[in-house]
Amino acid sequence: MNTKDDCIFCKIVASEIPSVKVYEDSVVLAFMDIGPISDGHTLVIPKEHVEKLDQCRPELMAQVGQAVVKVANAVSKAIPSDGYNVLCNNGISAGQLVDHMHFHIIPRNTDDGVFNRWPAYEYPQGKAQKLAEKIKEYL
Ligand code: AMP
Ligand code: ZN
Repeated sequence: MNTKDDCIFCKIVASEIPSVKVYEDSVVLAFMDIGPISDGHTLVIPKEHVEKLDQCRPELMAQVGQAVVKVANAVSKAIPSDGYNVLCNNGISAGQLVDHMHFHIIPRNTDDGVFNRWPAYEYPQGKAQKLAEKIKEYL
């Protein structure tokens, strides 16, 4: 399996450092975030070292996705909450501090103050279409 020596999540997978596990199969591990932003904040990771979502093999992502659904279902039933965020930060500018792809499952309640909506703006006329054309060149 693809691992990286200095990766803290690879070390968790290898049980070289402790974690509070909630789900494990041959491909995926889910464990409690050590610095939760709400009670029940859980991380779902592939056991294999993958840095970012765009570097993840689709077949592996499918298995991670199944585990995200399973764990989100359990977390939302177990933790008193009226919603949850699923977040995957990619790259330092997007807030990724651990370079091993992971999905945060963060229980939420109305007015919990965890974080608010992002600062949305409007595209000027034609810009969305232009950007979409650029993106489509890489699909
Ligand atoms: P991100 O900023 O998206 O890379 O998130 C990394 C997350 O990993 C943070 O929420 C950390 O609290 C969490 N984290 C870092 N080290 C550990 C650890 N040893 N066990 C559990 N969670 C961790
Ligand atoms: Zn890793």
